[in-house]
Amino acid sequence: MEPGVSVTILGTAQDGGIPQAGCSCERCNEAHKNLKLRKYPVSLGIIGTDGSKHIVEVTKNLSEQLMIWSSNENELFIPETVSITHLHLGHVEGIGQFGKPVMASKEVDVFLSHKNKNVFDERSDIKLMIKQNNIRTHSKNFNQLFEPKQGCGFSLQFISIPHRSELGDTAAIIIKGNEKNILFMPDQDSWEETLEYYSKENIRDFLKMFNINYALIDGTFWSMKELPGRNISEIPHPTIQDSLKLLGKRMEKDPRISFLHLNHSNPVNDIGSKQRKLVEEYGWGVSEIGDVLKL
Ligand SMILES: [Zn+2]
Ligand SMILES: [Zn+2]
Ligand SMILES: [Zn+2]
Repeated sequence: MEPGVSVTILGTAQDGGIPQAGCSCERCNEAHKNLKLRKYPVSLGIIGTDGSKHIVEVTKNLSEQLMIWSSNENELFIPETVSITHLHLGHVEGIGQFGKPVMASKEVDVFLSHKNKNVFDERSDIKLMIKQNNIRTHSKNFNQLFEPKQGCGFSLQFISIPHRSELGDTAAIIIKGNEKNILFMPDQDSWEETLEYYSKENIRDFLKMFNINYALIDGTFWSMKELPGRNISEIPHPTIQDSLKLLGKRMEKDPRISFLHLNHSNPVNDIGSKQRKLVEEYGWGVSEIGDVLKL
């Protein structure tokens, strides 16, 4: 039997990770004391049927994330390709790790939307890494299926998602195996806008449109009351509470849905919190570092 494609969750936090710089909330303080409570910004590691290694998003914690992903500490997995949903900090912050001062990689293929590639390629550090052959950037159309490496046994597809677009545009990424498909949608402004963009009435129809079996979706905040002192309307995300309201309880034929991109302020981070229990009672999940999905 041919080995399948495996997708490992390498990070579950919002861009800042946990503990977040400059934050002394209880959750961040505990994570300073206890390494096991640390959460890295969202990222996925994908192993193709040919054994090739690919990541989605490249974070400041690439070093720890490659160790988590690898089955053998003497043979760390080194990604051959990187696919990036959008240019907000946490999704691209680790790109410099491929450069001369750290890994001095050779020709890592980096996939982005057209708009994001144009913006990305203009950065002086990226120009240098391209010149030094550490990375090669490639643009992909929204909805176009592509294999990040020929013969890897799965395809990727960027789909457009309404999200704050100061730096470029935003994609969700669909990972298509032979039989199953994963949606990775770490950031969106609201379900209303996303559903309207795709002319769908509800989340189930949206997921059905792309034949999604597992959806890893934006769970940044639990509620709007979470960030005292910050205007949450300037950082719009649907709250998990909203998503639960829209989804209701999981029904038998529904895809699996799991929340990630969790802000340090989100109580769903805590195993055993009543908010997390509620998510689970509804039949949905919260992603954990090290979770593996098979395609
Ligand atoms: Zn983000
Ligand atoms: Zn905090
Ligand atoms: Zn974002």
